[in-house]
Amino acid sequence: MDNLEELKQEVLSCSQCPLQQTRTHAVFGNGNPDAEIMLIAEAPGFYEDKNGRVFQGKSGELLDKILAVSGFDRNEHVYISNIVKCRPPNNRAPNETEKTACFPYLYRQIEIINPKIIILLGATAVKGLINPHAKITQMRGQWIDWRDRLVLPTYHPSALLRNPHLKRPVWEDFKSVVAKYRELVNSEHYSDYC
Ligand code: URA
Ligand code: SF4
Repeated sequence: MDNLEELKQEVLSCSQCPLQQTRTHAVFGNGNPDAEIMLIAEAPGFYEDKNGRVFQGKSGELLDKILAVSGFDRNEHVYISNIVKCRPPNNRAPNETEKTACFPYLYRQIEIINPKIIILLGATAVKGLINPHAKITQMRGQWIDWRDRLVLPTYHPSALLRNPHLKRPVWEDFKSVVAKYRELVNSEHYSDYC
């Protein structure tokens, strides 16, 4: 049977694709392995590669704020990972070879964590998991049934840093997540804002 710690050890020593040569640390994922919400983003960036943990820089701070207004804490209510576990050089988007090599880890991670709700942060995550032709602008905010789980695409926090107009739709999307969480997980879930 798969176990999260064993899977993590496999990832930390993985050499299935060329990103292995340029990474400092593979970034497996962080958060609560028993969480009912899993967030999936793109790939580790500079700071994540340096210290081996997800969402460390400015986009991490923003993600924490978005989670906080929804009444979620990244160590308690969610588990966070990425489509690929090693940083692509200069933060370019991961290519097909890298994504294909890395997907089996993500699928096994999802099976082990077994979240009811999956939030996809940004186009790379939506295209990777749902449909290679997906457009994030069209799909965000709409729940998708995927392998007996509910999946909600929304914008990546780094897109919000570049374009503050995206904050409102992301806030709408997280209100929808809070409503779904109350319906499926905890009817008493508290948030200051919704
Ligand atoms: N951006 C991502 O997509 N993932 C991280 O872990 C950090 C920044
Ligand atoms: Fe292995 Fe994924 Fe890292 Fe490539 S990106 S080396 S497949 S863990």
